[in-house]
Amino acid sequence: MTKKPFTPPCGTGCAGSQMELFAAPADTAAAPAGPAAVFDWDAHDFVVVGDSGGKDSGALVHEVCSQADKAGQLNKVRVLHCDLGRTEQGHLVEWPGALEVARGHAEQYGVPFAVRRSSRWRSLWERILDHGNWPGHFARYCTSDTKTAVGRNYVDEVGGELNLGRPPRAGYAMGMRAEESKARAKKPMIERHRMSGAGTLRVVTTWLPIHRLTTDEVWKTHRDNGIAHHEAYDQGMRRLSCRACPLAHTDDLVRSAQLNPQLFAEYAEAEAKMGHPFKKSITMREIIERARS
Ligand code: SF4
Repeated sequence: MTKKPFTPPCGTGCAGSQMELFAAPADTAAAPAGPAAVFDWDAHDFVVVGDSGGKDSGALVHEVCSQADKAGQLNKVRVLHCDLGRTEQGHLVEWPGALEVARGHAEQYGVPFAVRRSSRWRSLWERILDHGNWPGHFARYCTSDTKTAVGRNYVDEVGGELNLGRPPRAGYAMGMRAEESKARAKKPMIERHRMSGAGTLRVVTTWLPIHRLTTDEVWKTHRDNGIAHHEAYDQGMRRLSCRACPLAHTDDLVRSAQLNPQLFAEYAEAEAKMGHPFKKSITMREIIERARS
């Protein structure tokens, strides 16, 4: 079956939540013209790479580490995986094994790997239940609370470890690609992130090293460099991140429901209790019915 292109819900590990993003057909997006922006390694104390365990993350870690190695600054790179925790019934919100794939990326390039979770929420599931409604394009509390805030805390943690005597200057690398949507195509490859600024304890530069790669080029990067990918891609998924994401394409949700029936049953129960449809266009109950048909 040939699937239509679509706008994915998250950047790498949703780390760019606060930069987001409204849906647009991927086939109308185009990479920006002109030379690619060059990251200034000397101007930064360290670079955090957000890694969800997805395919873009694999290409991202490769690109960052290759550039760092060329600059003789591989020691500045750290890979961060944001753990989204479990549901009430004990199911992982993310795909099982995603963390291990992310760890493998870091190990392949010999850089430190860290797993961190929200200091406020035990899981994204807890956050959703507290909110009383599902995340959506206009309610991206999921990424801001369980990924961006976690990334910001990790920048502070690494900055503290380095004991610089001044606010740390960090790079934050994410796997957003121009091909994914018109909104993402317009993103600058390098810009000051809003987690930095006057009165804050850190200076953070957002960096999108694989912004210009197509999906085919992402997979070619994997093949050419022997980078591991999650088995869910071999089972028909186009995205990883949360196994049930209200911003995902319905086709992907139906496939995920086939692969994760217990998790989706728990989401359907929560949907009934909350009284809000999982997606505006389709309920979780309907997704499950389509998965069974
Ligand atoms: S539900 Fe998960 S995958 Fe979807 S936007 Fe939120 S954090 Fe990202």
